[in-house]
Amino acid sequence: MKCVICKSSDIQMKIVEEEIKAGRDIVLIPMEVLVCLNCGERYYDRKAMRKIEELRDRLKRHDLEVEEVGKVFRAPAA
Ligand SMILES: [Zn+2]
Repeated sequence: MKCVICKSSDIQMKIVEEEIKAGRDIVLIPMEVLVCLNCGERYYDRKAMRKIEELRDRLKRHDLEVEEVGKVFRAPAA
């Protein structure tokens, strides 16, 4: 498989933290996905996509245990 962005064939399964938005909050989900080691592009298979959808639903229903790891701040427009 070649990266569609940079044409590199340096693609490996890696654990990444996927960001899922829940209202104004962001939930990090550690997931194993294919990542281009050259440009960082992530490739999601059907299973990963389904998992993200499922977690997004559970977040909406507040049916997912999460812990606070940081805060989100906003600065005035630059
Ligand atoms: Zn790439």
